[in-house]
Amino acid sequence: MLRLHPYEYHRPVRLDEALDLLDEHGDDAMPIAGGTDLVPNMKHGLFTPGHLVSLGRVRELHGIDRADDGSIRIGAAESLDSVSRDAAVLEDWPMLADACSKISGPQLRRAGTIGGNVCLDTRCTYYNQTRFWRESLGFCLKKDGDVCHVVPGGTRCVAAHSADGATALSAIGARLEIAGPGGERRTVPIDSFFTSDGVWNRRMKRGELLVALSLPPPAPGTRAAFRKLRIRDSIDFPLANVAAVARIDQAGSTESLRLYVSGMGSYPRKVGKVEEIVAGGPLDAERIEGVAEQAFRQCHPLSNITVDAEWRRAMVPVMVSRVLHGLGETIAG
Ligand SMILES: Cc1cc2nc3c(=O)[nH]c(=O)nc-3n(C[C@H](O)[C@H](O)[C@H](O)COP(=O)(O)OP(=O)(O)OC[C@H]3O[C@@H](n4cnc5c(N)ncnc54)[C@H](O)[C@@H]3O)c2cc1C
Ligand code: SF4
Repeated sequence: MLRLHPYEYHRPVRLDEALDLLDEHGDDAMPIAGGTDLVPNMKHGLFTPGHLVSLGRVRELHGIDRADDGSIRIGAAESLDSVSRDAAVLEDWPMLADACSKISGPQLRRAGTIGGNVCLDTRCTYYNQTRFWRESLGFCLKKDGDVCHVVPGGTRCVAAHSADGATALSAIGARLEIAGPGGERRTVPIDSFFTSDGVWNRRMKRGELLVALSLPPPAPGTRAAFRKLRIRDSIDFPLANVAAVARIDQAGSTESLRLYVSGMGSYPRKVGKVEEIVAGGPLDAERIEGVAEQAFRQCHPLSNITVDAEWRRAMVPVMVSRVLHGLGETIAG
């Protein structure tokens, strides 16, 4: 049986209280939202904080509201289930609702939060294991060791970003509201939030909290879709996921395309140079094939999860093609 280490559990009700607790206990404290990822990770000895600061009762982290400018603000502690059923989210960004509804299983979606999904720790075959298992290999760069078993000789962790909601939010171009000790606040585009460092893949210091996410209103002609590759059609983490947001003008020409692929490296990868391929015409089979080939060239899965990396790579263009063919009806105007 995997046991948890002893820790103190704090249940603040205000954001400033939560931030003060994190500040007071420094590296010995971690925030916990639904705990669906953190608790298993603590059982594996990957994190052993002496203080857990629960976000569940912090009022400022709750609520899904439409702002005056038409954007939707989602509190970071809203559950994946709430996001997937919210009327405003379903109206503007059904693709995000779809991505959230494909995360793990019903119980975990009720406990797990959208903020925890954005801040999800990266995953790896050689990391999400018991201490005994990891010790037998001499540990690794991400925790307790100094080698990488995925890229022998590598000096950087390349564990996989495995958060489905975050990939959808990247394609949407969400903005993240972050609060730090002493009342510091900043809002950053999600594109500048993630880094390629698998040890800690986000530009957010320990002690800071993700407060909310803001979804822009979809521009006229917007279409969006999300696809997830997994072994079973439930509970599994993604082997790969793809999210796309396109704008099609009234004549049927593609004005823009934001395409993200994740589940491979340590952050959701924006597939570059796709605008040139789709510009000036409809998103027809030929252009979709061009975009799928571009994604294949840019995405290189590694052996950081158990499923064969070459097969996952071969599935990239298939997934991209399915997403683009499935863009569906225009969301706005
Ligand atoms: C069996 C199983 C299957 C799963 N399948 C999937 C899947 O298919 N797709 C997927 O995306 N995820 C999956 N997950 C992971 C997880 O359930 C979800 O990602 C969930 O959204 C995590 O949210 P949480 O609130 O439980 O996060 P927690 O476990 O509470 O926290 C996760 C991390 O985020 C930090 N954190 C949480 N909230 C904040 C905040 N507001 N500000 C700063 N830091 C914060 C915590 O300190 C911790 O480091 C799975 C988990 C399990 C156990
Ligand atoms: S990618 Fe390498 S360093 Fe990172 S968790 Fe896996 S084995 Fe460890």
